[in-house]
Amino acid sequence: MAQDFYQTLGVQKNASADEIKKAYRKLAIQYHPDKNPGNKEAEEKFKEVSQAYETLSDPGKRQQYDAMGHEAYTQGGRGGGPGGFDARQAQDIFSQFFGGGGGFSFDDLFGGGQRRSNPNAPVPGDDLRYDLEIDFEDAMYGADKTLSLPRQTECDACHGSGCEPNSSKKTCPACGGRGFQTLSQGFFSVRQPCRSCGGSGQVIEKPCKKCRGQGRYQVNETFTIHIRPGVDTGSQLRVQGKGGAGLRGGRAGDLYVFIHVRGNEIFARSGDDLMCEVPVPYAMAVLGGVADVPTITGKAKMKIPAGTQSGTVLRLKSKGAPSLRGTGRGDLHVRILVESPAGLSKEQAELLEKFNASLTAKNTPRQTAYSERAKRFLREE
Ligand SMILES: [Zn+2]
Ligand SMILES: [Zn+2]
Repeated sequence: MAQDFYQTLGVQKNASADEIKKAYRKLAIQYHPDKNPGNKEAEEKFKEVSQAYETLSDPGKRQQYDAMGHEAYTQGGRGGGPGGFDARQAQDIFSQFFGGGGGFSFDDLFGGGQRRSNPNAPVPGDDLRYDLEIDFEDAMYGADKTLSLPRQTECDACHGSGCEPNSSKKTCPACGGRGFQTLSQGFFSVRQPCRSCGGSGQVIEKPCKKCRGQGRYQVNETFTIHIRPGVDTGSQLRVQGKGGAGLRGGRAGDLYVFIHVRGNEIFARSGDDLMCEVPVPYAMAVLGGVADVPTITGKAKMKIPAGTQSGTVLRLKSKGAPSLRGTGRGDLHVRILVESPAGLSKEQAELLEKFNASLTAKNTPRQTAYSERAKRFLREE
């Protein structure tokens, strides 16, 4: 699948949400398995189109996709993995797209096949997003986080039916169970979903008291998720089945936890590599020595070579952040800040003056080279 999602839908990179919708509508109907029974190629196409639409129709996902590129996005597991979508996911997207009312039914779409849309068909729950801020340490060492969030759940009193115990639904008197009403306006007759039953063809006789006939209600659910070492801002965790409840036996949606990692006063991060700055005394930078450096696996001894200049970056291999995929760690890049001694006493100052007077051009190669350049620029000979 060398095509990117835009090519799959046949739209430009800067396509509007509306253009993407239109492109998906056209292709999804064209390649729908019901229209192409036994046609493997169409089935593949249908999945590809669904996957592309799923990503490009969500502004957040689309932005991420644009930033990461097709390969990285799909291989990162965010686009459904290299194998793409399974048939059910593709079907879910299709149902959500066309199931949102507006008078569409499968019959209309496919020119009156034998299928009748079933108003009592299961409806999958919504996917939810939750933004979780975690400490730098949690991202390094991993952590278990307890979340408590409001979530739609299927009513346990009526098991989602919305009916009081020992009562049931009855045929909608307004539409006679057909789910739509036909209104005549002059020459035209317009078919629209029945207002009394919302298109289901059935109404509840005695609404369940616990959920007021909705079939689901909101609860605060508490559960624990595991943060793996190495997560970073932008990482997403999918918690299966913790999104909104489905209706009529539809599967629950998923919860997507978006990770945001707080800053740290010692370390900055870039991918799996960490950066820090370590001030070292002037004499150590001149003479060489060993500096203590904090790392996420404890204190490390770092050799400072004689003649180290301020700004030099030294690398401690495999002392960076743990890799989220696979094993190993990034590196720790330590930027050396040579500290010039401040607030010297008269005696100290005299010692330093004396020392400074003893320096030769050999001790200060940079200054010597620089003054040559400065002279050339100023045309002084
Ligand atoms: Zn209920
Ligand atoms: Zn009705």
